[in-house]
Amino acid sequence: MIDSIGTISSIIKKQKCFGCGACAAICREQAITMEIGREGFFYPKINLELCRNCGLCLNVCPSAHPGLLFDISKGDSFALWAKNSKIRLLTSSGGAAFQFALKYFTKGYLPIGAVFKDNFRYVEHIVAKAPEDIFSTVGSKYVQSNTVSAFRYCLSNPNGKYIAFGTPCQINALRNIIGKKDPDYLLIDFFCHGVPSYHLWWAFVEEISRKTGRLQHVEIRNKARGWHKYGVLCIGDRGIYEKNFLKTTFGRFYLSNYCLNEPCYKCHYGHKSAADLRVGDFWGKEYADNLMGVSIAVALSDKGLKLIEETEGLTFRSIPLSLLFDSQKRVKKPKISKPKNNERLMEDLIAGQPLPKAYQRHLSLEYRKKALRYFPYKLANAILPKRVKSILRFAIRALRS
Ligand SMILES: Cc1cc2nc3c(=O)[nH]c(=O)nc-3n(C[C@H](O)[C@H](O)[C@H](O)COP(=O)(O)OP(=O)(O)OC[C@H]3O[C@@H](n4cnc5c(N)ncnc54)[C@H](O)[C@@H]3O)c2cc1C
Repeated sequence: MIDSIGTISSIIKKQKCFGCGACAAICREQAITMEIGREGFFYPKINLELCRNCGLCLNVCPSAHPGLLFDISKGDSFALWAKNSKIRLLTSSGGAAFQFALKYFTKGYLPIGAVFKDNFRYVEHIVAKAPEDIFSTVGSKYVQSNTVSAFRYCLSNPNGKYIAFGTPCQINALRNIIGKKDPDYLLIDFFCHGVPSYHLWWAFVEEISRKTGRLQHVEIRNKARGWHKYGVLCIGDRGIYEKNFLKTTFGRFYLSNYCLNEPCYKCHYGHKSAADLRVGDFWGKEYADNLMGVSIAVALSDKGLKLIEETEGLTFRSIPLSLLFDSQKRVKKPKISKPKNNERLMEDLIAGQPLPKAYQRHLSLEYRKKALRYFPYKLANAILPKRVKSILRFAIRALRS
């Protein structure tokens, strides 16, 4: 007999545990709960008195059993965006995820997506039972989501049909859980930068709340300055916080790969997926001037392709592989490098150091150096006439190619 509990915590070491919640959701004895560990990530906690050593937890673990994964570069790629400009403005990229959820909700599918909880301190997956629930899943929340109650709902309501959104590891977990119920599920994951520690998120919430008071609204991908210059918009009971994401302490740490979950650094989902469809932002040159937002999608199964074709609220066009590679660098280079001082920053955050102070200590010098390097370009951009700039851009591109 498999010693499942011993196995899940000894074979699936912290370095390999995605915190996807599959083990906790599948456990019939409810012997496993997901709790936030010292580093600020969900990790299974096991009650040995309840465990019956059935081994189910290990069978659904995507780290132990990834199952059949589709190769992203072999799928059909598309550029797509919501026809409705309001939907496009509310969502992170082109509004593809929201449009799919809305469309399939009217066809009897229950959307599963991530929402903020407990005054924006946590993120959790819910099963949306009404259109307003789907609205609360809109927008990327850059912190790990707890999937357990949503996954348990699917298991205890096996006659339902579901359209589920999540990180590639969460969707891999759900595919393992549903097994032969596959025809009733539409699985959608996204190109994922990784999930940062709750310690980083909580420190950011603290930094903002000091300025705004108790938070009433949080958007990480607000498009008031345009899709490429997306900003964090928070409204509290005493004020408003609005800043370009790339200029926030949180955004700078996150995008410089600090405080990510350990398995994110070695994640293989950059070029592989267990989903029917992968979505993301259409970064890269093709839509570099677009202000409203464009999604990229890669159909990995017939169901994924049908999803795109049947969702009337979306405009879509097929794109060549070269544009997928240009937009999503991790398809070719999946690994993320860990900054050398990551551990020291984590320790400071765990000890409760305020985020602005941690930023001064660990990252500000790097950004100042970057700013100095880019100063001549910024100056040229500000003073040169448009025509001269476009000639220069053309010449630089020609020299590079
Ligand atoms: C942690 C994270 C990292 C990402 N990294 C990248 C990246 O590197 N490159 C890239 O192109 N795109 C990335 N994305 C995806 C991107 O931000 C958009 O979510 C995607 O383009 C879909 O946007 P949309 O306009 O279609 O819909 P939106 O309405 O904005 O859809 C957001 C969807 O994501 C789900 N979601 C939100 N937060 C979470 C969460 N914490 N955990 C699980 N699911 C969540 C919601 O349920 C919803 O279905 C990331 C998203 C997240 C949450």
